Amino acid sequence: MPPFTTQELQSAIAELDQAIFSHEQWYKSLLRILISRVPAEPADLRPDAHQHCRFGQWYGNVSTALLRDHPAFISLGDAHEKMHVYARTLLQLVSDNKPVTTGQLDQFENALDKMRLEIQSLRHELSEVIQSQDPLTGAQNRASLLPWLREQQALSQRRGQHCALAMLDLDHFKQVNDKHGHLAGDRVLISTVQCLQAILRPYDRIYRYGGEEFLLCMPGTTPEEAREVAERMCHAVAAQRIQPNGSDHILQVTASLGVAMLDPSRSVEASIEAADNAMYRGKKFGRNRVVTEY
Ligand code: GH3
Ligand code: MG
Ligand code: MG
Repeated sequence: MPPFTTQELQSAIAELDQAIFSHEQWYKSLLRILISRVPAEPADLRPDAHQHCRFGQWYGNVSTALLRDHPAFISLGDAHEKMHVYARTLLQLVSDNKPVTTGQLDQFENALDKMRLEIQSLRHELSEVIQSQDPLTGAQNRASLLPWLREQQALSQRRGQHCALAMLDLDHFKQVNDKHGHLAGDRVLISTVQCLQAILRPYDRIYRYGGEEFLLCMPGTTPEEAREVAERMCHAVAAQRIQPNGSDHILQVTASLGVAMLDPSRSVEASIEAADNAMYRGKKFGRNRVVTEY
């Protein structure tokens, strides 16, 4: 999934919850019709019933790209439509005073289960993304780092391709907070992550490793390419002109980056440490620079 902010993900989940609620209300009224024999809603007997229930109306009008463009969203729509086809069969039989076979009921229930499974797995996926994110910057959080790097290490070993790491630490960041306040510092962190995202490819990942430290994971990247990308990131961070909300000040920051390869012959932790050590050498040499371990 492309990067989405925690807020965007949260509001998508809230939308899904509202849609689940609408569907449950519809289901309750369906049971009343089937069991208590109150008259069916005319809309439920139409061939396009799935577009007329509240869930269907919501589905047809979703504008949140995060949901609309998600592959699971299409299968959810299909499952919902199918469920209505079977519901219509049941409603028609009941309104014609004909018996419903267990097979017909099972078909409906299976379609209902499938639709509920689709919506729950979509919801689950979005909340997993939130849990792996740092809420301030939207970067991945540290908890999800080691499993991902172990996976990348195994992959690069199997495919014989490189995977590069870069540790990026903002220079003299404490001074930004001291001079301009913590909120301005937060703004710099958010802006820096956006700046890095614009340079990195979709399958690269940015982890918030510490307060103002980020670990970048770049699969399929040779040592030479990693150095080039790190140089570009270093320049881009320094080129930022950040104006915190409600402030007249334009803030500028620099970063020091240490590059190391995710080397299958050593532990993942040792590769991170190598990137960290290279970054610290960059600090010693004067900051605002890239140092590689190689
Ligand atoms: P150096 O160039 O050696 O890295 O110096 P530095 O000032 O960047 O490093 P130091 O470790 O002394 O300070 C890091 C600062 O980052 C201190 C801490 O208050 C700040 N920081 C950590 N997390 C956050 C955050 O979430 N928001 C803000 N605004 N500041 C943070
Ligand atoms: Mg720092
Ligand atoms: Mg630091």
